[in-house]
Amino acid sequence: MAIKLRSDEDQMILGMVHDIGVQRIAPRAAEIDKTGEFPWDMKALLAEQGILGMPFPETYGGSGSSEEMIIRVIEEISRHCATTALILCVQQLGSLPILLAGTPEQKARFLPRLASGEWLAAFGLTEPGSGSDAGAMQTRAERKGDTYVLNGMKHFITNAGLAHVNVIFAITDPTAPGTRGISAFIVEQSTPGFRLGHVEHKMGIRGSQTGELLFEDCVIPAENLLGREGEGFKIAMMTLDRTRPGVGAQALGIAQGALDVAVNYAKQRVQFGKPIAEQQGIQFMLADMATAIEASRQLLYHAARMIDDGAPNFSRFSAMAKLYCSDTAIKVTNDAIQILGGYGYMQEFPVERMMRDAKICQIYEGTNQIQRVVIARDLIKG
Ligand SMILES: Cc1cc2nc3c(=O)[nH]c(=O)nc-3n(C[C@H](O)[C@H](O)[C@H](O)COP(=O)(O)OP(=O)(O)OC[C@H]3O[C@@H](n4cnc5c(N)ncnc54)[C@H](O)[C@@H]3O)c2cc1C
Repeated sequence: MAIKLRSDEDQMILGMVHDIGVQRIAPRAAEIDKTGEFPWDMKALLAEQGILGMPFPETYGGSGSSEEMIIRVIEEISRHCATTALILCVQQLGSLPILLAGTPEQKARFLPRLASGEWLAAFGLTEPGSGSDAGAMQTRAERKGDTYVLNGMKHFITNAGLAHVNVIFAITDPTAPGTRGISAFIVEQSTPGFRLGHVEHKMGIRGSQTGELLFEDCVIPAENLLGREGEGFKIAMMTLDRTRPGVGAQALGIAQGALDVAVNYAKQRVQFGKPIAEQQGIQFMLADMATAIEASRQLLYHAARMIDDGAPNFSRFSAMAKLYCSDTAIKVTNDAIQILGGYGYMQEFPVERMMRDAKICQIYEGTNQIQRVVIARDLIKG
């Protein structure tokens, strides 16, 4: 069901994204997956079309799009290529801490080249010993005069080694209670003492580069602190509350893409003298897939609209959307493979890639267990 956008201009943009999805992104998806190389051509395409500028206000060269529009564009691109959609997701993830907590000088310095797509962004929270328990991080940032010196490492970081702007979370006060000793910093790519470590080989989203970021006496100017010392964890959580619908949208797009393939295939494939789409067993599977997708979509768009409207408890809905859409994507892609039978298992058809790509949506930006923690905490508070 088409859910109406709030303006005709947004409808037009979505139509344009639909066209470039079909004409330019879909034909590249299998190759990106096969080579596992970052798709610079897709990044250039998203930049050219102003898509990478969507999460940025017009003052900084972006289009100041609503969250609803951003997630709808992520969904549309993910129908064809989840790796390409992730470029937009992470541009938002790595830039939002600057938008939320940056000074006017930091915003003026970093946002225009992120909005134009000249620079990529990365968000460095996770470490080998601190994933779900992000507050247990070890990376240190010590104040020395008008600088901070960073030592430690981040791992599983999307765009590691590719991003010019890296928002890094590190401990500034190890004696502070809970997560109040964590601060956020902007680390630029060419900073001495900052380098790329191991690059991961992954199951899905294979064209996205995931790797370690290493800090060895990495000296950054004190003016690269985001917000105040001790506000880092709050900035990270405020960011994730707003970007989780993007992961939900990635999952939803993958699920819709898999359903499209399954419906087409079921209409063509003849067994027992008629198309398998005429078998009620297949029809029921398709009906369940479409129903789960539509329920996910309603929840996701609702969460995005809550963010746009500044609703007080949007973080619960943001977590619900990410959880529900990604669980749906796993189920739908799995069923799509089943409907294609042996062909579904082969790389000749896109559904096996879609299933591999869908899995990450249950893991990053907080696993789905952590989303349940967020939802339950909000339910029982107060
Ligand atoms: C491809 C990829 C890209 C990523 N990109 C980024 C990035 O750009 N930036 C970044 O900072 N991080 C990134 N991550 C890291 C990602 O966010 C973490 O992997 C994720 O948060 C889980 O952490 P973990 O892998 O250490 O798992 P763990 O935290 O060790 O979890 C292991 C299992 O235990 C469960 N678990 C843990 N705690 C609880 C609990 N309290 N209750 C119930 N179950 C629990 C988890 O749900 C999971 O099933 C990326 C990860 C991947 C794989």
